[in-house]
Amino acid sequence: GAPLLQVEDLEVVLPAGAGTGTVLDRVSFVVDAGSTTGLIGESGSGKTMSAMSIVGLLPPGAETAGRIAWKSEDLLTAAARRIRQVRGREIGVIFQDPLAALNPIETIGKQVGEILRRGGMPRQQVRARVLELLDRVGIPEPEQRIDVYPHELSGGMRQRVMIATALAGEPQLIIADEPTTALDVTTQARILRLLADLRDREGVAMLLVSHDLRVMAHVADVVVVMYAGRVAERGPAREVLEHPRHPYTRALAHNVPAVSTKSAIAEPLQGAPANPFDRPAGCAFHPRCPMAQDRCRTDVPVLREVEPGRFSACHFAERVES
Ligand code: SF4
Repeated sequence: GAPLLQVEDLEVVLPAGAGTGTVLDRVSFVVDAGSTTGLIGESGSGKTMSAMSIVGLLPPGAETAGRIAWKSEDLLTAAARRIRQVRGREIGVIFQDPLAALNPIETIGKQVGEILRRGGMPRQQVRARVLELLDRVGIPEPEQRIDVYPHELSGGMRQRVMIATALAGEPQLIIADEPTTALDVTTQARILRLLADLRDREGVAMLLVSHDLRVMAHVADVVVVMYAGRVAERGPAREVLEHPRHPYTRALAHNVPAVSTKSAIAEPLQGAPANPFDRPAGCAFHPRCPMAQDRCRTDVPVLREVEPGRFSACHFAERVES
């Protein structure tokens, strides 16, 4: 069937200091029901912007083109009111820093239950449902925790509260932006297990944004590698990470030995990420690419299917050795 979410040729132009910048350039990917799509890239790659476009959280003044098909609806052209409705109910959002995203002067119970109260659920029922949600995300003794404030909880527990808040509306999709970056390694693993569990047991689809390839290798079914506001490579997670078809992915994987065991021939990534407001001509990766040829400096490579289900935006994708 049709994917749950389909982003098609998404373009976002932001007003910049001098002129404007196309920070997203024809970005396309899908999220299938009950599966996890991962957006990978360095900062400035456009991964967060791509995710936030879906729920209407773009910077003021942003101009957009393309399509964001959510089931049978185009969210890119939907009214702001409709998008606010979708966000929270049909699509839950988890941000990187729960302390910044949660309200410090409201109890967690009140925050998790907000969407339920707004939907008209009676108070006693909201409380019972919030206790259930806190339990579901692995918060021990929910009765002891429902009336505390965010600062009284550990970082990992706060992230669980965020996840409970995202789940309260019973979304079909959760967008998680670097959900474990602010956490220690042990807690990271627990939160990732929880997210994978929600997908496997309850069929919640996930759009996971992360710069961390280990996270992707663990959780994502499909990955979308972004560079300078464009999709560099896309395909099944394991295949892309183990046998990259783009020199950028290969360089990223090289820095994470746990992901790729066959990266001995890859060179580590050098130089700074491209500035999407001042993108190099041709392939934006060419100043950092060990395989760059003359053609790369002038011709923008199109994303093309290089193997069944594998897409790469490199002129020489077939020559990338993994
Ligand atoms: Fe490197 Fe050229 Fe491929 Fe870009 S198109 S990744 S510069 S080889």
